[in-house]
Amino acid sequence: MKRRILSVSLVFFLLASCSGSKNTVTTQKKIIPNEQSFANTITASELKTHLTIIASDDMEGRDTGSKGQKKAGNYLIAQYKKMGIPFPKGAESYYQNVPAEFMNKEYDEHLPDSENIWAFIEGSEKPDEIIVVSAHYDHVGMKNGVVYNGADDDGSGTVALLEIAQAFQKAKEQGQGPKRSILFLHMTGEEHGLYGSSYYSEHPLFPIEKTVADVNIDMIGRRDNRHSDSNYIYLIGSDYLSSDLFTICEEANAKFTQLAIDYKYNDRKDPNRFYYRSDHYNFAKHRIPVVFLFNGTHADYHKETDDVDKIEFDALSKRAQLGFTIAWELANRPTRIVVDKSGN
Ligand SMILES: [Zn+2]
Repeated sequence: MKRRILSVSLVFFLLASCSGSKNTVTTQKKIIPNEQSFANTITASELKTHLTIIASDDMEGRDTGSKGQKKAGNYLIAQYKKMGIPFPKGAESYYQNVPAEFMNKEYDEHLPDSENIWAFIEGSEKPDEIIVVSAHYDHVGMKNGVVYNGADDDGSGTVALLEIAQAFQKAKEQGQGPKRSILFLHMTGEEHGLYGSSYYSEHPLFPIEKTVADVNIDMIGRRDNRHSDSNYIYLIGSDYLSSDLFTICEEANAKFTQLAIDYKYNDRKDPNRFYYRSDHYNFAKHRIPVVFLFNGTHADYHKETDDVDKIEFDALSKRAQLGFTIAWELANRPTRIVVDKSGN
């Protein structure tokens, strides 16, 4: 036993001396980290750590206004505090209260008050221009005592936001913070009718005309039965309002993540109408360009079996990296993306 340890240390010693001598002949060149290196801080293992908590039975399926949802919200806020990312300027806390009256006005629902959660990285050059990165953190709760964990819907987007925020914060700490500001928005009430995003769009913290784009993530941890592997993503809406946004998404993917972009559901005539079915729509209706990142539906969609053990974390991490690099370009390009006149 002991001898084995000794010989291993000897190998390490030799390796260390070799690499040491190599270093002395290499010229000292400072490597400037780029967006790729920050994207690489988004890892499958960290996503798994977060999602194992967000989609645990403890969160009771995160129904809007429930104890479990609030618990999940507390976890998110604790992460932002740990990362050193504050709530937005002009807000009083990490919460935007979404009143029950707002959610219950259209339908005969009886939802209690609940909260959107927001965090903010201020831009270094154009702080008034806002990029929104969004995902809903509510799910459908419990039915007959069974917890619907919503690991993919939308635990996957929820934890992707945490990792994207961390990547931007690390960039900022190394003097490469975003030039425009980034608002991380965790929406409530999505499953009941996109209420959180609807409320935000009617009570925006920053002016609508200063809101450059919304990158919305809802279900990116699984694959559907149209694909034999998970190296793909559906993008929806990217060319509806801004051809600049379409190009940014294409180029970010070609340069970094190289996923197969599937535009099947981008067809306006697609009967699934996914464009209208997640939070980005409440930005698009105000003519803010949006892109929706989505893996399609699967057998566990809105079932009690949407669990963490079925998540493909490598795919989740790549798709989150794509979200990050799209947001990076939106935040850092010299000119703000243009909203096309003909866009609809
Ligand atoms: Zn969803």
